[in-house]
Amino acid sequence: MSEKIGAVVVGAGVVGLACARALALRGIETVILETHDAIGQETSSRNSEVVHAGLYYPPGSLKAQLCVEGNRLLYAFCEQHRVAHRRCGKLIVATSAAQAEKLAALKSQSAQNGVEDLRPLTAAEARALEPQLSASAALLSPSTGIVDSHGLMLALQGEAEAHGAALALKSPLLRAEARGDGFVLEVGGAEPMRLECDILINSAGLHAAKLAATIAGLDVRHVPKQYFARGNYFALAGRAPFSRLVYPLPEPGGLGVHLTLDLGGQARFGPDVEWVDALDCTVDPRRADAFYAEVRQYWPGLADGALQPAYAGIRPKLAGPNDPAADFLVQSEAAHGVPGLVNLFGIESPGLTACLALAERVCKGLGVR
Ligand SMILES: Cc1cc2nc3c(=O)[nH]c(=O)nc-3n(C[C@H](O)[C@H](O)[C@H](O)COP(=O)(O)OP(=O)(O)OC[C@H]3O[C@@H](n4cnc5c(N)ncnc54)[C@H](O)[C@@H]3O)c2cc1C
Repeated sequence: MSEKIGAVVVGAGVVGLACARALALRGIETVILETHDAIGQETSSRNSEVVHAGLYYPPGSLKAQLCVEGNRLLYAFCEQHRVAHRRCGKLIVATSAAQAEKLAALKSQSAQNGVEDLRPLTAAEARALEPQLSASAALLSPSTGIVDSHGLMLALQGEAEAHGAALALKSPLLRAEARGDGFVLEVGGAEPMRLECDILINSAGLHAAKLAATIAGLDVRHVPKQYFARGNYFALAGRAPFSRLVYPLPEPGGLGVHLTLDLGGQARFGPDVEWVDALDCTVDPRRADAFYAEVRQYWPGLADGALQPAYAGIRPKLAGPNDPAADFLVQSEAAHGVPGLVNLFGIESPGLTACLALAERVCKGLGVR
């Protein structure tokens, strides 16, 4: 079977679905290819489900721009499409005088990113909000929240399909060939097929670099080295005595083992940073010891035995353990010279928050309005 379509998006995670929706809304016939038998089976369902405000990323970076823009777009989308979410706010806590200085630096960086609503709190003010908290100072971020990531993906899929997009599950893209005026794709799975398309979006998450390497016509110089960092989570047995998210200061490779809540009020802690070679999401229960120590720095009341291994997600990283943090890489024709191709590399946090803004950036890179 062979037919020519407008766009193929590889990957039905939150970013691929947002890209498919954006293309379909622009009237482009779009097919989403997904390896698994359901949407959102990889990183998009293995994260903290936090709608970030945009505090952490270097001013001017794509992460900063797309997080701030994505935060605004995401809340508006959730309200319009009735996706469950809560603007619960978060506290970033300092547990020593030295850390309190870092809070001030974080506040000034956030302002450069356009986040103006951070409120510095004294220890007493922080405790007035969250009585169980131990902190020498804190920042309150009112525009941080939580979202039902699966509900979000279903809403994105629904709107894409309502505008003519089609989702093909159990349909892995095996290889592609760029022909200058489009692409020829070889799709595997139960019903192997050959497709032709004008636009190809590689939104394959953890597999994006491996997939890009199979695109004949894309110079391998443009395929970055990919690193993986697992983030493990432990769930709290019982109710958490907190109504906001609580974050320590960021650590290399991640945002620190934080307390996040789901929409039902259940608390979990994580993710830590564990550099791995294989895409294995098993949580080693022995990591709990380090979690108790980290969490007790800001919540001394955490009881022995209260943490249970929960789940893990893997960050697709473009920088290794000893490198400075890398930005998102949205690579279009201007960078690699292949018309119609956009590769999305290194879409780690805040990719969930930024999904709608990333999709707009993809369309801009393609020159489609
Ligand atoms: C531990 C952790 C915590 C995080 N916390 C947050 C947070 O709180 N807030 C936030 O904003 N972001 C967070 N993130 C980041 C966020 O989860 C990701 O940026 C986002 O989910 C990436 O979505 P995606 O669609 O790019 O990738 P994925 O969800 O991984 O989707 C990629 C899809 O492509 C499919 N695929 C791959 N290869 C092929 C192929 N050849 N053919 C067909 N299909 C293919 C895969 O099966 C998969 O479904 C976190 C990430 C991690 C790891």
